[in-house]
Amino acid sequence: MTVSSDDQFVGAIDQGTSSTRFLIFNLKTQQIVASKQIEITQNFPQEGWVEECPDEILESCIHCIDATATIFAELGLSTDQLKCIGITNQRETTIVWDPNTGKALHNAIVWCDSRASETVDKLIAKAPGGKDAFRDKCGLPIAQYFSALKIRWLMDNFPDIAQKLTSGEAMVGTVDSWLVWKMTNQHVTDVTNASRTMLFNINTLSWDQELCDFFGIPMSCLPRVCSSAEEYGTLSLSGFAGTPISGILGDQQAALVGQGCLRPGTAKNTYGTGCFLLQNTGEKPVQSQCGLLTTVAYQLGKDAPAHFALEGSIAAAGSVIRWLRDNLGLIKTSSDAEALASQVPDSGSFVFVPAFNGLFAPRWRPDARGTMTGITQFTTKQHIVFGALESCCFQTRDLFDAIAQESGSMPLSMLRVDGGMTSNKLLLQRQADLLQVPVERPQMSETTALGAAMAAAVGSGILDKDEISNLSPVERFDPVLSENDVSRRMHMWHCAVEKSLNSV
Ligand code: ADP
Repeated sequence: MTVSSDDQFVGAIDQGTSSTRFLIFNLKTQQIVASKQIEITQNFPQEGWVEECPDEILESCIHCIDATATIFAELGLSTDQLKCIGITNQRETTIVWDPNTGKALHNAIVWCDSRASETVDKLIAKAPGGKDAFRDKCGLPIAQYFSALKIRWLMDNFPDIAQKLTSGEAMVGTVDSWLVWKMTNQHVTDVTNASRTMLFNINTLSWDQELCDFFGIPMSCLPRVCSSAEEYGTLSLSGFAGTPISGILGDQQAALVGQGCLRPGTAKNTYGTGCFLLQNTGEKPVQSQCGLLTTVAYQLGKDAPAHFALEGSIAAAGSVIRWLRDNLGLIKTSSDAEALASQVPDSGSFVFVPAFNGLFAPRWRPDARGTMTGITQFTTKQHIVFGALESCCFQTRDLFDAIAQESGSMPLSMLRVDGGMTSNKLLLQRQADLLQVPVERPQMSETTALGAAMAAAVGSGILDKDEISNLSPVERFDPVLSENDVSRRMHMWHCAVEKSLNSV
């Protein structure tokens, strides 16, 4: 890798559920010149609850930025060559803080946390039209996944938080808002993150009074909504202090941009803690009939039009591998999963439905529970690990079928993939087999961070949005399993899902 003092660079904070990364890209070549990643502690205080510490989230970002600044300097580059920074973040995860003390008032409630399921039941009973009552406005069903439900739960369970949010003594936001506020003192978010709260009207691109009233959340405590590419403020902390922050995208939307899926019909699937299939549907929101979400994909500039996506969300993907490591001790590191699963041709009759926090798309069943079926004397840990990997592929196949049925979408003839799990080639081969279409993985795996960096470059005016494309070569996995075998295994999967839906 050659770098010179004439080159321009763009940074990206990628604050994910499992880890935080900071990466610096060469603007022209899109090559990564420096990066640092650290794992984030996840707390599980009760069954179905998932929390992270807001201070640890912030400190992990600063730590990664500082470590990367050192590498950057060692390459002989000067800090003013880093032109801007983008942020991409785990979406929906909700933080409430006191702006006077700068302290969070509760741990971050993570997107896959299911504590608000009783709140959901009560609100669905009250909503005119049930769980899909507000789909026209916000593109989402009423579900514990979205930030409004997490804020409502906090207000119901902590009167002091409710009182502070109402009196203007507290602010609320998703992880992007928390980081930008801590780093620049501005309380902002972008349209993609706002579109995951259930309080945002995706037609008018503004907070919606009816939705705020329905959830009982004062609009005054919410951040100012900006486009995904504009200057929000300058970094006040760390080795790159003074650098503008000029791009924000939710992590799945960032991966869509990083994969260069800017044309209607293009799609990507990201396998991280969860798994998310997004298809770009252009400048008009398409309302789903098959359990997918309608979401803002990006708005690359204050005056640029918003683009929309249909999304299939899977709650548990990489988290299942982490569970095999941390709870069952079947593997020592996530990367051991491939070697172990490769020792068997498939999982035999064993099927694993990892509905740890209910099932998301296309079923939206918070009451579903993790289920293992088809266990015999023959079942080994190799089969269990294979089954865990295959569960991501089965669920993706269900989303693929849902996209094919949507009237406003276009069927997919191949799937572009990315995310931490895609270093696992067995997973990608199995995915191609179960979809019966080729799967393509770009060799540059950090597409989420790249998307945020590209948004920041557009926001800072050093890149035109029409220049965004991911030109990196791809590795391709072609299906080899017969259609009969695929139908048989999909049948086994759907039988297991039925049991998971009826397990409590
Ligand atoms: P996030 O952005 O949600 O933090 P990442 O894209 O960083 O997630 O992916 C991390 C997840 O991928 C972890 O849950 C980890 O268990 C899983 N993972 C990482 N490497 C592998 C692998 N080789 N095989 C299977 N799963 C993996």
